[in-house]
Amino acid sequence: MSVVLYLVEHDRGRIDETVLGGMTGARLLAESLGADLHAVVIGTGAATASEGLDAYGAGRIHLVRHDLLADYGPDAWAESLAQLARTTGAGAVIATGTDRGNEVMAQVGARTDLAMVANCLEIEPDGDDWLMTRVRWGGSLRERARLSAPVKLVTLAPHSTEATHAGESAAGTVAEFNPELDESDAVTMVVDRVTVSEGITLATAPVVVSGGRGVGSAEAFDIIEELADLLGGAVGCSRVVTNNGWKNHKFQVGQTGTVVAPDLYIACGISGAIQHWVGMMNAKNVLAINIDSDAPMVTKADWAVIADLHQVVPAISAEIARRRTLAAESG
Ligand SMILES: Cc1cc2nc3c(=O)[nH]c(=O)nc-3n(C[C@H](O)[C@H](O)[C@H](O)COP(=O)(O)OP(=O)(O)OC[C@H]3O[C@@H](n4cnc5c(N)ncnc54)[C@H](O)[C@@H]3O)c2cc1C
Repeated sequence: MSVVLYLVEHDRGRIDETVLGGMTGARLLAESLGADLHAVVIGTGAATASEGLDAYGAGRIHLVRHDLLADYGPDAWAESLAQLARTTGAGAVIATGTDRGNEVMAQVGARTDLAMVANCLEIEPDGDDWLMTRVRWGGSLRERARLSAPVKLVTLAPHSTEATHAGESAAGTVAEFNPELDESDAVTMVVDRVTVSEGITLATAPVVVSGGRGVGSAEAFDIIEELADLLGGAVGCSRVVTNNGWKNHKFQVGQTGTVVAPDLYIACGISGAIQHWVGMMNAKNVLAINIDSDAPMVTKADWAVIADLHQVVPAISAEIARRRTLAAESG
């Protein structure tokens, strides 16, 4: 295999860190195969999105342009990717398993009549086949699979690889690719966007302060919000909290909520049920605050405070505020 194509998902030029993590995973795979990694950046904003991709190991960057690629459209993106795979003779096409990544790659599979394997954690070449471990059911099941196909179509589980630069920047040669598209490839196109949240989002926040049943009420979430504010983080919660109406579902972390991978996850009064854990297990550091030293969240956390969160959380906030005041006074 000489070429691995990686779809660099972007939104009008803006790339999420998760996508660069996927590109790092694709680079490591290409290295293990002795193949070249080519980045594919489609549509409006492609030039902006392509800046710096050489540092992540892209030997070639394909800027895919066509009038029908003005904004995101899964059919048009997939058809472009399928044509580019044929043109380059790629042996694998990879994307990150985001909503869009999985949507586009499924379309590529349908158009090329090839199998697509979603949300892979590990890939191990075995002759012409790939042995892969993929996550199922929101992360609560890991499944081993063998993929036998002339061109491998795969998405990598989000957050499974941390974004890192290649040891040496690759050539990063930029080439324009103009696919042949017509109106039949423009079945679904983005025509408008509504921003539902601004500033730090739960999915990308570096710190998440999350509350569970132990918080006790909607009003008591004030102390969780105060700590999140002080740490420049976002508020999260468990499903019990959303079921009780203390917080809106958009704050829920877990299998049926948002998947997060912050530097620090502070779980306040959360037991750590598997459906919650799979939503935050990729956090780099976990601090559990819980009265039960046997709670799964406590036993799996990096640090734990065994005490009433209603005392501990305000005490942490007060200490942060005190230290900041001291630092400000001392110039
Ligand atoms: C199909 C399915 C999907 C699901 N999806 C999700 C999901 O996406 N996200 C999710 O979170 N759950 C999900 N759940 C629910 C999940 O199984 C758990 O029921 C839920 O996560 C428990 O929430 P909790 O930890 O807040 O509550 P509990 O399990 O009741 O835990 C409360 C914790 O608070 C501690 N505590 C109590 N008082 C205090 C105090 N004063 N100070 C400190 N600690 C205290 C207790 O010791 C306990 O550990 C799902 C369930 C199913 C069946």
